[in-house]
Amino acid sequence: LDESWTSLPNPYDIPVEICASPDVPIEPAALDELLTVLETQRTLETLSPEARIERVVCTPDFHKGAGIPIGTVLQTRAALVPQAVGNDINCGMRVEATSLTVDEVRPHLDDLERRLRHLFFEGGRRIGLTPAQREGLLRFGLPGLLGEGFAGHAVDAADRLHAAGFPADSADGFRDWVTSGGGTSYDSLIGSVGGGNHFAELQYVAAVHDGPTAYAWGLTPGRIVTMVHTGSLALGHQAGATGRDLARKLWPSGVPLPTNGILPILLDKPWQRYLTGFHNAANFAIGNRYFLSQMMRTALAGAVGDLDARLVYDAPHNLLWPSGDTVLHRKGATPAGLSDDGWGEPVIVPGSMGAPSYLLRGLGEARALTSACHGAGRSIPRGAAAKGSDDELDAFLRDFRVVTPLNHRDPAIATRRDIITAWRRDLKQEAPWAYKEVRPVVDSLRTAGVAEPVVELRPLLTVKG
Ligand code: 5GP
Ligand code: MN
Ligand code: MN
Repeated sequence: LDESWTSLPNPYDIPVEICASPDVPIEPAALDELLTVLETQRTLETLSPEARIERVVCTPDFHKGAGIPIGTVLQTRAALVPQAVGNDINCGMRVEATSLTVDEVRPHLDDLERRLRHLFFEGGRRIGLTPAQREGLLRFGLPGLLGEGFAGHAVDAADRLHAAGFPADSADGFRDWVTSGGGTSYDSLIGSVGGGNHFAELQYVAAVHDGPTAYAWGLTPGRIVTMVHTGSLALGHQAGATGRDLARKLWPSGVPLPTNGILPILLDKPWQRYLTGFHNAANFAIGNRYFLSQMMRTALAGAVGDLDARLVYDAPHNLLWPSGDTVLHRKGATPAGLSDDGWGEPVIVPGSMGAPSYLLRGLGEARALTSACHGAGRSIPRGAAAKGSDDELDAFLRDFRVVTPLNHRDPAIATRRDIITAWRRDLKQEAPWAYKEVRPVVDSLRTAGVAEPVVELRPLLTVKG
């Protein structure tokens, strides 16, 4: 067990625990980045006698980020750190189990691909919320969008969301975004996947590791599952910017700005404005995951026939959890608590497009701050020269279906070398070889006592972009 935990010594005597078995590579650059983050302890000391970093946990998919590593769980007292949430507020994963099986779906994959392309990228998505529904979603999340009864959700679905919504006293975060020039319209935002590593994926249950839990979650062998990964898109970026601006505005005059660029906000300062925008963005993300799942269902119903779908879980991985005087920050880490029903909180660990993903059950491990990884993690930094030859990419595309805004099979597009070259370069950044292998990562969670595998999922098709 102890093989999967390492304590990171640091000059500030903060308990820093890294959860990763010896065969999971942890980049030295990510540790350097983390040590720089820990300098914030000195910043907090100068700001207030109460404020401090209490504890830090690094998850097995830990890797370098832009200032704060992805896979960092940070517990603070008397202060919060907007940057420790990441830009994409309430980015998260949502999984639904359908009544279909892989054998029923396989013969319809061509049709399904066409329908998904139309729905996601060719004008087929018409979500058209009324102003009241939009306001309801932004202020209260799913209850505000769907009514207290959660129309369209099973009665007990509330148990299967880490959070259904976060009450906000206004939709000012949204209005800030509109006044700041917004760029795209709300209608084009809602129901879009978001680029890069965000996705909507069709998977099936390939192996069951924990029968009783799998059964309780509606997951039998061969069952078709949808997995959605998206966040708050432009609204989260807006709220993040508001948080950073506010931290700057609240900064006491005479205290030099921290050299590590991380500006905390003391909890006794007026940070309501940030919280409102933050909650608006977080609510939007929950709604967006709901709509993307529905689009997957719609395409499946059209291509295969009637189906039922049951929410397994909706889990955030970029969020704040204030509790009294402490604040838990998760940036690219997912909750892995116990659950009232006794099975444990579902932990969603995607691998990469074309590779397996896992669902685990949380064990509520305090040493991990009840947190697990939210993926396999990148093995090469985004933007670094793409690994993999053109032949490898072609081989990958021959046996895996990727649906992107650009239809590379369209003959008119296929002859446009410039467009296709750029598309291939982007895709290589998302190919399985750009990510770590997911199995050792999942094994780390098990041996560390953080979460136990319930099912392995394999992908049939991924919508990216
Ligand atoms: P992040 O939230 O840090 O952007 O990404 C979460 C994780 O999602 C990544 O670490 C990676 O393991 C996983 N991932 C990225 N793209 C895909 C995909 O297309 N399909 C699946 N199943 N997982 C992915
Ligand atoms: Mn995101
Ligand atoms: Mn994410």
